[in-house]
Amino acid sequence: MQTFTGTKIVNGIAIGKIKLYKPAVYEISEELVSDIAAEIARYEAAIDKVKEDQNALYEKEMKAGHKDTAGIFEAHALMLDDEDTIIDPCKEVMAEGHTAEYAVRQVFDEVAKAFSEMEDEYFRARSADVIDLKNAMLDVLFGADTANLQGTEPAILVAEDLAPSETVKLDKSLLLGLVTRLGSSNSHTAILARSMNWPTLIQCHDITDDWDGKFAILDGYNSCIYIEPDQEIIDKLSAKQKEDREKEAKLQELKGKPSETKDGQKVRLYANIGGPKDVKAVIENDAEGVGLFRSEFVYLNSPTDPTEDQQFAAYKQVLEGLAPRLVVIRTCDIGADKTIDYMNLDKEENPALGFRAVRICLSRPDFFKRQLRALLRASAFGNLGIMFPMIISKWEVVECKKLLEECKKELEAEGQKIGKYEIGIMIETPAAALCADELAEEVDFFSLGTNDLTQYTCAIDRQSANLERFANTHHPALLRLIRETIEAGHRHGTWVGICGELGADPELSEEFMKWGIDELSVNPKSILPLRERVRNMDLSKFKTESPKPEAKPEPKPEAPKPEVKAEAPKPKGFFGRLFG
Ligand code: PEP
Ligand code: MG
Repeated sequence: MQTFTGTKIVNGIAIGKIKLYKPAVYEISEELVSDIAAEIARYEAAIDKVKEDQNALYEKEMKAGHKDTAGIFEAHALMLDDEDTIIDPCKEVMAEGHTAEYAVRQVFDEVAKAFSEMEDEYFRARSADVIDLKNAMLDVLFGADTANLQGTEPAILVAEDLAPSETVKLDKSLLLGLVTRLGSSNSHTAILARSMNWPTLIQCHDITDDWDGKFAILDGYNSCIYIEPDQEIIDKLSAKQKEDREKEAKLQELKGKPSETKDGQKVRLYANIGGPKDVKAVIENDAEGVGLFRSEFVYLNSPTDPTEDQQFAAYKQVLEGLAPRLVVIRTCDIGADKTIDYMNLDKEENPALGFRAVRICLSRPDFFKRQLRALLRASAFGNLGIMFPMIISKWEVVECKKLLEECKKELEAEGQKIGKYEIGIMIETPAAALCADELAEEVDFFSLGTNDLTQYTCAIDRQSANLERFANTHHPALLRLIRETIEAGHRHGTWVGICGELGADPELSEEFMKWGIDELSVNPKSILPLRERVRNMDLSKFKTESPKPEAKPEPKPEAPKPEVKAEAPKPKGFFGRLFG
């Protein structure tokens, strides 16, 4: 048995085999080759293999009765046969002496770009299909074992590090726990790990390739992983895992019970989510609403800029699925660690202080308006809150609201139905916290983004593994900003919540309640433990004569309405029709 330590992110025990996760990174040579015929033969073999795979997927989806998805794979197989757009141009590039890999990258990227620049949203979205096919071709040409990237059985995933874009693509049902060599406790991967409640260890510096396939136990409580543990450890930690499961089962009894202290102070316990697939977890964990839907995951999950219709579908699904609960959707918070190739953002020296979130949105109004229109259309299907991130000044809020109003007018002119919605902002910069009084005049609610507020208040890069010992999420400056923001909000009848990770911090729950927090938005798995803490509190001993100031009440939820406009049928086929 060997024992290695790291920094724990999520408590809990994971028992199972290790899967070493190594994403494929391809270096494509620019050097010319002499055997052109051999390259063309490799290329043709790759086309045949990818076509075969796509046809197999088509058959599988048809058998499962998923005609729409099957149609995608059918179209993919046809695309690969397109002489004018794919086959001949690839052969021309190879005839110049380039490798098959080089030709595929060159030609597929050009075709994808042509799609992405088209007027029609449907055709723009086809660019993603071409990129998918390019990746499939490169996997075959490089001989990558993609089926085995994450394995096929549930396992403890061990990786160097994971970017948010990689994490979102993982098959969550195959994950028992997570161990990384790098990473920091406030990174988005750590946040996702908390939300999924995977036992997680970061900064485990001793990871080696020979761990792959070995039996292990990840002990989140003691921040360590045992490789090939002995029987004593297996017995002890299996018992602990059983005890955890029993405790979790007991928490289920709190479903449907009010989130209220013994002396009757209420708080709304909401969930943080990343997309429609999390609706189930919101309901299962009895969250009273969603306080943060990180809409950028809709963008990260998409290989190309999501269209208005694609976004509308995602927002509508969440709003409808959770009505009449309030769902706060944060507008796109791209930038810093959440990078997306298709956004073509410049490299920056200090990305956390750079071009991100609302700064991108206000600089690219067409991009922003696509999201605002999708949100407004979705508002007809539930109870929506629209929240703007990374605000530092009042003019930014005014500008966001102006664009929202512009979109509303456009949609009304088009005859689209729009429901009621609230407007809020994230308080995640010291500037916003200190100007909370004047910002409150513009909005219905504040949500404290304590992850970034900690980073910017303490000048601690939340991504940096080296700064962990300096990071203090209970820093008095941070706590003062939180308390003063709550007070400022309440002075103006603006309700105040917390959607950063601190909202679930057991050591601070009582403080937040004493300060009169209206809402805590935490990962779904933290809802019931937090409700248990709240219900065990008695704040009467802290109460003075002055009662908690009243915040604006939540708007009355509207009954979901039927969809207004049927979506136009999507044309089938592609290049032939497209390029004439
Ligand atoms: C925050 O900054 O606290 C927050 C909730 O947003 P994110 O973690 O996505 O930056
Ligand atoms: Mg933030």
